[in-house]
Amino acid sequence: MSNAILVVGGGFSGLTAAIEAAELGHDVYIVEKSPWLGGRVAQLNKYFPKLCPPSCGLEIQFQRIRKNPHIHCLTMANVVGLSGVKGNYSVRVRLEPRRTPAHNVDFTFLASTLDGECASEFDFGLAKRKGLYKAMPFAYPARYVLDKSTLSKSDAARLAGNKQLDMAEEAREIELSVGAIVIATGWKPYDVTRLTNLGAGSVKNCISNMQLERLASPFGPTQGKLVRPTDGRTPHTVAFVQCAGSRDQNHLNYCSYICCMATLKQCLYFAEQHPDTQITVFYIDLRAPGRYVKVLEKVQALPNVHFIKGKVANVVQAKDDCCEIQAEDAIRGEKLTLNYDLVVLATGMQPTLATEELALPVAKDQDGFIAGGEEAGIFACGCAVMPLDVTRSAQSGTAAALKAVQTVKGR
Ligand code: SF4
Repeated sequence: MSNAILVVGGGFSGLTAAIEAAELGHDVYIVEKSPWLGGRVAQLNKYFPKLCPPSCGLEIQFQRIRKNPHIHCLTMANVVGLSGVKGNYSVRVRLEPRRTPAHNVDFTFLASTLDGECASEFDFGLAKRKGLYKAMPFAYPARYVLDKSTLSKSDAARLAGNKQLDMAEEAREIELSVGAIVIATGWKPYDVTRLTNLGAGSVKNCISNMQLERLASPFGPTQGKLVRPTDGRTPHTVAFVQCAGSRDQNHLNYCSYICCMATLKQCLYFAEQHPDTQITVFYIDLRAPGRYVKVLEKVQALPNVHFIKGKVANVVQAKDDCCEIQAEDAIRGEKLTLNYDLVVLATGMQPTLATEELALPVAKDQDGFIAGGEEAGIFACGCAVMPLDVTRSAQSGTAAALKAVQTVKGR
């Protein structure tokens, strides 16, 4: 029997679950597939409810992790096998090679001398990254990653003799004994390139709401300047297209819950940085649950933000890298054709497991959200279960931690 707990996923709900269980005295293993903890929140510029930057809320979580010897963080790690029964599981975890020292070494200068680069996954392709990289200044762990596939031949030759890097490190597997499991595999933005009528991936200056978060972030590709990706120009007209992929039986057949609030937040970004920019929000419904209705009222009161109730049929390329929106104003009963400097698709939230398999025995519903598993001592939380905002994800992580603790204590 083991009273240790495995948490799969190191985003906000997984971190919360891990910390709550560890602070009750349980050994906790966080298995996170990316090189750093923080999940989607780390990619945001600000998040609700207080609109603080991610470094703020995450740093509090990272401090609690640093201080707690019960928490063991395994990054670049994936669960590849499970055996045993509730209360006594053996979990096989594969660790991908990081090839940098276990202690924090600042490779900023060395990385800047490298030639090879690829699209930055963290910046959703809006910037490039080198083969030796760290996605954000507040990354935890604060270690770089050496990605050999991105090195040029001359990069590889230059790094070959570096004693701090382990070019030969290979993936390895370890076994963990745990009594219960929390699954916090989170979400990903819906693949906007599937929304061919909305211009994603083909129309210049038509971006997703998560790409706008990266533009707004001081650590993003434009150091926080809200400009057009193609020419760095301040957009004078911006359109937000709501329900981009959500509430659509051909894509995500549910409301993604967060994207109305994300748009309202991003209207505030523009109002703060470019108060003269004219913004139009095309919506079907505006969903501002509970106390968030105050944010909706605040944005509705802004003189340069306009709301049009109507579905956007198409986004096509216009001259000067602008975007033409063809839509219907459902209230006036008019067909509209309007040009914008920048279009932002309020892209829906899809559970990560909708398109990825997990080597754990859990059932998923038709949309890929986890449904069940509790009888086996496996508890899902956060956006692996349903679309949630950060606050509710954290609450869900706490609930899952409590159930996991009850499972291992009751045995
Ligand atoms: Fe559409 Fe708003 Fe629901 Fe997102 S939260 S799917 S934009 S109604």
